[in-house]
Amino acid sequence: MEYGHITLPTTNIPVSREVDVLVIGGGASGIAAAIAAARGGASTMLVEQRGFLGGMGTVALVPAFCPFTDKRRPIIRGLGLELMERMKQACDVGYREEYQELLDWVPIDPEVLKRVYDGAILESGVTPLYHTFVYDVVLSEDRRTVKGVVVVNKTGRSFISCQYIIDCSGDGDIAALAGVPFQKGGEAGELQPGSMCYLLANVNRPNFRRYLEESGDTGQLHQTVERAIEDGALPEGRKSISGLAWVNDYLVGVNFGHVFGVDGTLAEDLTRGAIEGRRLAERQLQFFRRYVPGFEHAHMVASGEQLGIRETRRIEGDYILSVDDFIAARSFPDDIARNAYYIDIHLANSKSEMTFNHLPPGVSHGVPYRILLPVGIDNLWVAGRSVSSDRAVQGSLRVMPNCFSMGQAAGSAAALALQSGTGSRGISVSELQRRLLEQDVWLGEDFMPAEETAGKKEGNTP
Ligand SMILES: Cc1cc2nc3c(=O)[nH]c(=O)nc-3n(C[C@H](O)[C@H](O)[C@H](O)COP(=O)(O)OP(=O)(O)OC[C@H]3O[C@@H](n4cnc5c(N)ncnc54)[C@H](O)[C@@H]3O)c2cc1C
Repeated sequence: MEYGHITLPTTNIPVSREVDVLVIGGGASGIAAAIAAARGGASTMLVEQRGFLGGMGTVALVPAFCPFTDKRRPIIRGLGLELMERMKQACDVGYREEYQELLDWVPIDPEVLKRVYDGAILESGVTPLYHTFVYDVVLSEDRRTVKGVVVVNKTGRSFISCQYIIDCSGDGDIAALAGVPFQKGGEAGELQPGSMCYLLANVNRPNFRRYLEESGDTGQLHQTVERAIEDGALPEGRKSISGLAWVNDYLVGVNFGHVFGVDGTLAEDLTRGAIEGRRLAERQLQFFRRYVPGFEHAHMVASGEQLGIRETRRIEGDYILSVDDFIAARSFPDDIARNAYYIDIHLANSKSEMTFNHLPPGVSHGVPYRILLPVGIDNLWVAGRSVSSDRAVQGSLRVMPNCFSMGQAAGSAAALALQSGTGSRGISVSELQRRLLEQDVWLGEDFMPAEETAGKKEGNTP
């Protein structure tokens, strides 16, 4: 229902800060972007609406990091790998012993991860500002430059002024506020569902493993879940658990089931999603206790502060990475990262199917710089879940390891732009690539920066 509009009186608000690089959103992409910008010499502020960093990994309790490898070698390196390894080191000895060598599907201990991210941000010299929501941007007269953002927090409303800005809100909030065109969901407006992830304590992994051996069921409990759906103990929908991530033998993170029809850019939808998600999680807890040996005494210690959101806006950039690029494992002269994670589009309603598309082991495609550049704005990068891609590729690029890579590239590019006094499109891409290589980013075995390869590789020129 529409209730009309009101005009707010013109108000005067303080400028609370002036920074070189402003990063909005403290998920995987924002953390990497802010650290990279600060390490590159820029005065950097990271604004996050929650009281901690981590985005979906801590806000929504997504229980594991997706693969850092292409099944042959680590392809996500640089800051993402550094931060994940720091989390491992900060975990208990049992965790370290079990997961030391693991690079794919590493379980997340969310409380440890929050502290690791705090530490990494502070060490790098980034100024964090938590509990702060960005609700508007101010553009230059020609509307090609974001001069800063309007924020609201407990202190009040204020303006943060910046030379460069990186949108890591996951939803492309800043780009959308700046008027950049975007797509949302599929052709009929369908969106991937959300999931309410949670942590179960007081479980018994040895007993659970014994159950899997004796019953022959899979780790995703296909048979057990199907049986429970037939019994009416679980609702219709995906007939397996997306993931169980064991932090230790008695604490497990769960990603299971879906809440449909939630647009993560609408507060009303998020409210409904949170309530439905918690209700579903409680039903699943009863399922675990009744159907799954090892879970008889499971206790839910936490659920996501927000429903986990897989898909909202895809911002239109200078290039739109497509499923053809993915399937052809295409490389680009302006690559700033590589991706091997499969296309993983969750069902939009309880009757539809999942979509998967895997690259063979050892194969990855390039992630070009241009997908970070929203059309029409010269000092803004978008990194993370809402970068410029078609819907299928968003279903692959959206995972945390890729978000780290894209964030690291955006932050490094912003620091470079500051030094060279250019806009986002004016930097030397080969210099950016050189810097990323120095930061241990992997761009392919035989990769050489753009100048040396221009015209020699398949793909469009920047
Ligand atoms: C249920 C589910 C399961 C998943 N499973 C996995 C998995 O197993 N492994 C994996 O690697 N990935 C997984 N993913 C994907 C992955 O977690 C996310 O896509 C990824 O975290 C996105 O990172 P991001 O940095 O783009 O955004 P986010 O992680 O969404 O972070 C955005 C941050 O910006 C803040 N923010 C947003 N708007 C504003 C604003 N206007 N002002 C201030 N702050 C703002 C938010 O509070 C948030 O902290 C899953 C996602 C979901 C939802």
